[in-house]
Amino acid sequence: MTSAPAEPCDILVVGGGPAGCTAAALLAERGRDVVLLEKASHPRFHIGESLLPRNTAIFDRLGITAEVGALGVPKPGAEFVSDATGQQVRYAFVDGLDKVFTSSWQVPRAEFDTLLFRTAAARGARVAEQTRVTGISFGQERSLVTAIGPDGAERQYAARYVLDASGRDTLLASKLGTRRANKHNNTAALFAHYRGVARRGGELEGFISVHLAEDGWFWLIPLPDDVMSVGFVGNQAAFKGRKGTPEQLFQARLDSSPSVSARMRGAERLGGVTSTGNFSYDAARSWGEGWAMIGDSFAFVDPVFSSGVLLAMTAGEMGAEVADAWLDDPAAGRARARRMERDLRHAMARISWLIYRINTPALRRMFLAPSNKLRMRDGLVSLLAGNLRGTRQTLLPVLAFKTVYRLLSLALRLGLPVGGAPPAQAQPAE
Ligand SMILES: Cc1cc2nc3c(=O)[nH]c(=O)nc-3n(C[C@H](O)[C@H](O)[C@H](O)COP(=O)(O)OP(=O)(O)OC[C@H]3O[C@@H](n4cnc5c(N)ncnc54)[C@H](O)[C@@H]3O)c2cc1C
Repeated sequence: MTSAPAEPCDILVVGGGPAGCTAAALLAERGRDVVLLEKASHPRFHIGESLLPRNTAIFDRLGITAEVGALGVPKPGAEFVSDATGQQVRYAFVDGLDKVFTSSWQVPRAEFDTLLFRTAAARGARVAEQTRVTGISFGQERSLVTAIGPDGAERQYAARYVLDASGRDTLLASKLGTRRANKHNNTAALFAHYRGVARRGGELEGFISVHLAEDGWFWLIPLPDDVMSVGFVGNQAAFKGRKGTPEQLFQARLDSSPSVSARMRGAERLGGVTSTGNFSYDAARSWGEGWAMIGDSFAFVDPVFSSGVLLAMTAGEMGAEVADAWLDDPAAGRARARRMERDLRHAMARISWLIYRINTPALRRMFLAPSNKLRMRDGLVSLLAGNLRGTRQTLLPVLAFKTVYRLLSLALRLGLPVGGAPPAQAQPAE
């Protein structure tokens, strides 16, 4: 039963994750009346612990870089290990073409997201936890947003603009029927936290490890207090016909990887194993009259290159610009929303080019034994550091990398001798 009249606000943000908190903080800072509703209660666990250097620009803008650094483990790069060939390669962010941000962090998301949520509140957003948005009814001047609060009572908000940052719940895309599964990347994930996993030392200290298996990949992310986040992302073949609890399925996967199981001898699992299916998707459209989707609520790509939080916070920045412009002049807001969708799709396409090909023999060869001719490796490092918009500097190296990939793919398909290590696995490209 609705008790009180709808509470007016300028912008209502659904979801207090990285996208929603970034947008709410920036809009409140500009003096907008922002309501930020989160169905859970911070601190709460969330997956997505490995961040990218480019994210630091947004932390700086929010004034929280020191706090993020204090709660995380410094991450100077990423290492990739092949189970099939035993090859191991290190990509240090310092080698990237862009030298502004050369390191990042791996963070416990419960604490990281709490920091973001508190930052939004400190900047002036009216925040509420344990408050689930259950309905949005779009109107000419204002949209009516219905939510259930911690006391179980329904409350309503009359918002001039709505930003959907509900993550993989995809509140609006589900309501509008615009969610599209990505047929290139139909994978699922299993993950858990452990203590006692062998950590990398020396020049690999703090690196995320990505272990490439035949039908997927593992992540090992070092967190504070000797905790290691371990996960497996597999394609359909990796899970087909396999029965058991998530714990049993995950253990079987860990045991199947010589390079991962060697590091996990004697490790102790902390809590249960989580599974996530129906992996990558996007919404056919990210905005409409008086609303926009930001972060995972709009689109999600495979996390092999740890791009999710950066994309979500970038969308949070852009969504704030769109909403702010809209409130003054809807025509200007529409133009910004169009640009936001174009830029975000472009950024996701840049990283997806690599993701879709990561299991192909040609890309695995190039990835595991990178050449720096024409600065191809350094261009790749820039991409891995989160340079998802592309710059003039990265244009030639990335073009050279793609050209070599195409030539190598062709040569392998024709059975021509190409030298170097054998392909780690044999799935065709697109
Ligand atoms: C297996 C896996 C591994 C990943 N690894 C990485 C990684 O290493 N690095 C990385 O950068 N990214 C990673 N990601 C991606 C990352 O988790 C997300 O991209 C990121 O959290 C997106 O932020 P967001 O704010 O859009 O959504 P979320 O972080 O999901 O936040 C959405 C929030 O909305 C709330 N919400 C949902 N529905 C409602 C509602 N109806 N009412 C109110 N609140 C609601 C939720 O409770 C949640 O707090 C990974 C993802 C997966 C699935």
